[in-house]
Amino acid sequence: MSDNPEKIKSKLEKLRKEINFHNLHYYKDNKPEISDFDFDILMKELITLEEKYPVYKTPDSPSVRVGGEPVKGFETIKHEPPMLSLDNTYSPNELREFDARVAKITTEYSYVVELKIDGLAVAARYENFLLSVGATRGDGEKGDAITENLKTIHNLPLRVETTETKFKKFEVRGEVYLSNKQFEIINTEREELGEPFFVNPRNAAAGSLRLLDPKLVSKRKLNMFVYLLVAPEKYGLKTQFETLTKLKAMGFPVNDKFQKCGSIEEVIKFCNAWEEKRHKLEYAVDGMVIKVNEFAKQDILGFTAKSPRWAIAYKFKAAQAKTKVLDITVQVGRTGALTPVAELAPVFLAGTTVRRATLHNEDDLNRKGVRIGDSVLVEKAGEIIPEVVKVLEEERTGKEKKFKMPTECPVCKGLVVRKSGEAISRCENLKCSAQLEGRLLHFSSRDAMNIEGLGKALVKQIVELKMIKDYADLYTLTIFDVANLDRMGNKSADNLLKEIAISKDRDLQNLVYALGIRNVGSRTAELLCENYATLDEIINAKKEEISKIHEIGPVAAEYITEFFKNKQTKEVIEKLAVAGVNTKRKQQTQIKNILKGASFVFTGEMENYSRPEAKNIVKTLGGKVSESVSKVTDYVVVGSAPGSKYEKAKKLGLKILNENEFLALIGKDKGKSKLV
Ligand SMILES: [Zn+2]
Repeated sequence: MSDNPEKIKSKLEKLRKEINFHNLHYYKDNKPEISDFDFDILMKELITLEEKYPVYKTPDSPSVRVGGEPVKGFETIKHEPPMLSLDNTYSPNELREFDARVAKITTEYSYVVELKIDGLAVAARYENFLLSVGATRGDGEKGDAITENLKTIHNLPLRVETTETKFKKFEVRGEVYLSNKQFEIINTEREELGEPFFVNPRNAAAGSLRLLDPKLVSKRKLNMFVYLLVAPEKYGLKTQFETLTKLKAMGFPVNDKFQKCGSIEEVIKFCNAWEEKRHKLEYAVDGMVIKVNEFAKQDILGFTAKSPRWAIAYKFKAAQAKTKVLDITVQVGRTGALTPVAELAPVFLAGTTVRRATLHNEDDLNRKGVRIGDSVLVEKAGEIIPEVVKVLEEERTGKEKKFKMPTECPVCKGLVVRKSGEAISRCENLKCSAQLEGRLLHFSSRDAMNIEGLGKALVKQIVELKMIKDYADLYTLTIFDVANLDRMGNKSADNLLKEIAISKDRDLQNLVYALGIRNVGSRTAELLCENYATLDEIINAKKEEISKIHEIGPVAAEYITEFFKNKQTKEVIEKLAVAGVNTKRKQQTQIKNILKGASFVFTGEMENYSRPEAKNIVKTLGGKVSESVSKVTDYVVVGSAPGSKYEKAKKLGLKILNENEFLALIGKDKGKSKLV
């Protein structure tokens, strides 16, 4: 395109309009008019153009949604007025009591009843019609500034659809949530990576909002409903009903299932109807919110110390179903934790068929007194993971069997120990195969050593065939070992070994995380490596010293020092060193992660790098490499004599780089790259 400013501006405007239009159809009406792929192409075109001409980038451009630069931490925001919580009620009678309290103070009021979305409360401030500050609820008085993260939420407007000057500056509040479908997608992905599950959509949304990298937040595809305008009377609004309607007209996502009710009996009827229907919704709803509709009446009613007198929450009972416990089994996790699991006669509950329910630990199991053969009530905590809540003792026949936590590990027969003060029993044998499987998956996961191709099925086989005793032994595997595994040809065996060899070169923080120390996630590993330059320094660090590191604290410090004192740990670390695994912090920390999240496909020969070398560079910089071209590929790097991948990439309209452009992207030439 020529550099004619007017032309560029109008092209950008056209693109933004088009993307906003499709965005609206996709997220608001759930009726996309174009495929995800075509949408991504439009977005990429916009981003590329804005990067080429940054002066024309606008603060409300939809490209903001893909997320800006990572932040180091969150600033604190004071809420004015505070974000209060509501009192809860659990029965129609409690609602009638609430209504009686209102009627004592005022008359001639009505109610507005809204769905209570099971998410996280946030505040969003707008200035000059633009989203300017986002904050979590925090303790109600103060929350974290998560502005860049909030901007990635597709249905929250970056610019409001109004030009009324009174709305130049205002604040709305609402609930950030994940759809049930998106929650399952995220958990499936975590399972594949060997990462722990999120228990429910609310936890997943909370975890996502607190990520320091907005690009990752963007990928979580959070949603939001707005339900409150701060100081609505300032804007000439008289009722909650009117406010919700106005917010909707301004482009805010307002849940449209709200209703005005003339009496508390009407409120109760509406609540009961939703208690039945809520499982058909695409998001979790844990109750209803009832507000006095008229702001003038709200002002008369005022507040108690903790909550408004003009509003109350009505909590739904968690969905329950009756079934039978067919057996109680024990699962062994990566840290050796033994979790008793109730194997159930299949029962339909809140939208899915439930076959298993967690019993958490021995104490929990004993407190509930669950026996094999018992009839029980199961419940979906947070609407997703089922749990046994009650034994129906009156239905016992005398044939039920008590369950005892095993004293030896059901998998390896190793000693099971429950330390005093802890609720969890653990298999103490570091060589336990169940633990080993978990540890291997963790070791090879993306934030750890990132060994591509070492998935669940393969790890299971390797462990079953006793090919290795710990993760350090991965580096001793030979082509003969690997080629004998199921579904492993010579070529894929060779590739896997190359991937394993390449992983020796990961940065120290990846290794520290990969070791699988309890309470040490990737963030803690990062913090350790900011303070210590080598693995030896971490091993020799005193507990008191580690616990002084900001954000780490005494509990993790204890686990860290205990871990390195263990004899088996010492052996494993010795083996890693012998294998040539990098144990030092790399110096290139600033340029690290410049490719974060970007996916690459290579085709053809390069002059400067072999394929494994090039792949390793991409991974070291935080990117991913895959073998085949698809619509989610970000870059296709084409060397000489490229194959069919090149043709496919062209057809899909993907970003194609020659070797020089690739070098520029990874900072290996002097020229500056604008691609990332
Ligand atoms: Zn075991």
